[in-house]
Amino acid sequence: MTPILSTHGLTAFYGDFQALYGVDFEIAPGETVALIGANGAGKSTLLRAVMGLIRVDPEMIRLDGNPVGSQPPHQMVAGGVAIVPEGRRLFVGMTVEENLRVAIDTARGRAGSWSLDRVFDLFPILREKRREPVQRLSGGQQQMVSIGRALLNQPRLLLCDEITLGLAPRVIREIYEIVPEISNSGTAIILVEQDVSLAKQASDRLYCMLEGRITLSGRSSDISRDAIAEAYFGGGDAVA
Ligand code: ATP
Repeated sequence: MTPILSTHGLTAFYGDFQALYGVDFEIAPGETVALIGANGAGKSTLLRAVMGLIRVDPEMIRLDGNPVGSQPPHQMVAGGVAIVPEGRRLFVGMTVEENLRVAIDTARGRAGSWSLDRVFDLFPILREKRREPVQRLSGGQQQMVSIGRALLNQPRLLLCDEITLGLAPRVIREIYEIVPEISNSGTAIILVEQDVSLAKQASDRLYCMLEGRITLSGRSSDISRDAIAEAYFGGGDAVA
């Protein structure tokens, strides 16, 4: 099966600083893949490169087998890729519903199964708070708006960048409970996650990055904690 997304020897730079060194990554349609690694490993850079926010060689990133490296973000969204960015980036001063409606407008009638009602069914608290300005919501509720907004782009591939950062354990569980629901609707998901146990539980496969390189990849259920620890902190390459 052609991967929905793949990277091929992906390198990326911030000025002179090289952040990614030959990253080979792939995700199949409908698959959930976790991307773990310490701060600064290059996880967000990989997502930014995929979204077209960093200039890379076109051939280094493929969507449905077609080269898309450096395509502008709106074209990636039109191609079915959406991101829940680190730090949420909601429109402050607008209500929950207004934030979500922006995404509906951006999707411009693109086919997909996500509607405002379906997002409210996924996160019932947002239905209750639909007329509240987003800044009055808790961090967890804001994260739900951010996820809802990405879903309303009708993605075939959803990129989630540390969606549970700074949230209470109860809220983290609540947010992760919806991952299978999103996945069951056929959407592939890349989860950038600092919590290794959570990443392992929630994913079919995982990749570990260290200093801009993939140091471990395999089926999440097959990978041992020791292999992850080695790949996370260094000490040799491993493929499970
Ligand atoms: P984190 O968990 O901290 O977000 P990460 O694995 O997502 O970590 P990246 O944010 O991708 O890591 O950063 C990879 C490397 O690129 C780091 O060394 C970081 O300092 C550097 N970097 C990230 N953004 C920039 C930027 N805008 N300009 C220069 N260097 C950057």
